[in-house]
Amino acid sequence: MLFCMQCEKRLTSDEVAIYRRLIYRDAEEYLCKACLAEKMKTTEAEIERKIEHFKSIGCTLFL
Ligand SMILES: [Zn+2]
Repeated sequence: MLFCMQCEKRLTSDEVAIYRRLIYRDAEEYLCKACLAEKMKTTEAEIERKIEHFKSIGCTLFL
């Protein structure tokens, strides 16, 4: 089980995948959607939109 390195919220597999897709593919620690949005100066909704986008193009990180 994985937890956000910043707020310690339990992570979903999508949150792990989007972090690896956007930040660092070989990461061993991750951020939840809220903390990732803050880091990227965007919104959680935008992170969710990106997750759906990468799923729709068949990105293998999101299996
Ligand atoms: Zn967090």
